[in-house]
Amino acid sequence: MPVNFKIDSSIASFVDKSTLLKVLTCLDESEIETPCLIIDGDKVRRNASVIGSNIKECKVFYAVKANPDLEILRILNNEGIGFEIASGGELQLLSELGVEPDRIISSNPVKTFNFLRYAGQYGVNRFSFDSYDEIDKIAEFIPGAKVYVRLAVPNDGSEWPLTNKFGVELDDALALLLTAQKKGLVSEGVTFHVGSQCTNLYNWNIALDKAKLLWSMSETAGIKLNLLNLGGGYPIKYTKSVLSIQKIERHINVLLKDRFPDTKHIHLEPGRAMIGDAGIIVSRVTGKAKRGDENWLYIDIGVFNGLMESVGGIRYSYIFEARNIEGKKRGWTLAGPSCDSFDVIDKNLISVEPRVGDLVLILSGGAYTTSYASKFNGFSLPKTIVI
Ligand SMILES: *Cc1c(COP(=O)(O)O)cnc(C)c1O
Repeated sequence: MPVNFKIDSSIASFVDKSTLLKVLTCLDESEIETPCLIIDGDKVRRNASVIGSNIKECKVFYAVKANPDLEILRILNNEGIGFEIASGGELQLLSELGVEPDRIISSNPVKTFNFLRYAGQYGVNRFSFDSYDEIDKIAEFIPGAKVYVRLAVPNDGSEWPLTNKFGVELDDALALLLTAQKKGLVSEGVTFHVGSQCTNLYNWNIALDKAKLLWSMSETAGIKLNLLNLGGGYPIKYTKSVLSIQKIERHINVLLKDRFPDTKHIHLEPGRAMIGDAGIIVSRVTGKAKRGDENWLYIDIGVFNGLMESVGGIRYSYIFEARNIEGKKRGWTLAGPSCDSFDVIDKNLISVEPRVGDLVLILSGGAYTTSYASKFNGFSLPKTIVI
């Protein structure tokens, strides 16, 4: 059944037109069940070819937690992208695709026993750490493994900060590298994460300055580091334009030339930027209500079955079906389907009034949506369709 959507000019200015067109064509041609996530495979391939291309000699490892759908992993595997994982479950998926162990790294600084055992059997050999207990664990399960220490760096200006939970300061980082070396591991380098959806270029300056200091301190202490892992953090467009990946990478590349002229091993671990803007969620309006002054709009995907990041401040752009194109715009409180009052996605969505039963597209929905989704309250998980 042909569908017709009202696309605001403000949205049209930053959405990937070919991805949107492919999704609209798909909706025209087939009846789909909502909620679902439609992934544009070509856009994933385009992202894979752009990311890392402006940083000299870097290797890209996709952070699987952003979206572990097997078809997506298959596409990235065929593009020659490596993988960054944290668990046995993620490694199991890669094993189904036959991914070689030297194309897999794990940057989770605190790993489970089961994962380390499985990773050791599989042949994975590169791990991050930031504590003494982790050194002992890695040395027990994977003697001689290559390790890199996680530095704490500022996450200011990142919409989804990843600071506090992991990372150490310089003196501790050096002491950890020395201890790892003593326990038979190979202290190879350093990693950091500037925060997810990072729109502050300066975070990379501070992180690279800090990494450079650790480099010199290690050299003085007798360890020659040669692996610089830049983490993830590249932003995508949700409700506004962001710095392009090319711009960010050219900026990073200049910093690298200056601070790490001889470093051969540069690793990148993008999650969000690889898959986020390749996906569009298709949902349906299930109800409307006026409560006091507030206009409530209910849809069949919410905080629990896919839009978890809205709780941390990620806001999405929406395109509604245009059956009510004449309506005036107003503010809506947008809520998910569950009975939990926590299940509110947006407090002030400006839109014309859709009809109950209309479809709604949620843009840039490919990352940290389906991977977070739970079956709380019995609502279905969004199915992933790769086109
Ligand atoms: C989540 C994560 C990433 C990916 O981050 P994005 O912001 O999605 O690019 C990379 N590295 C580590 C260690 C992570 O935990």
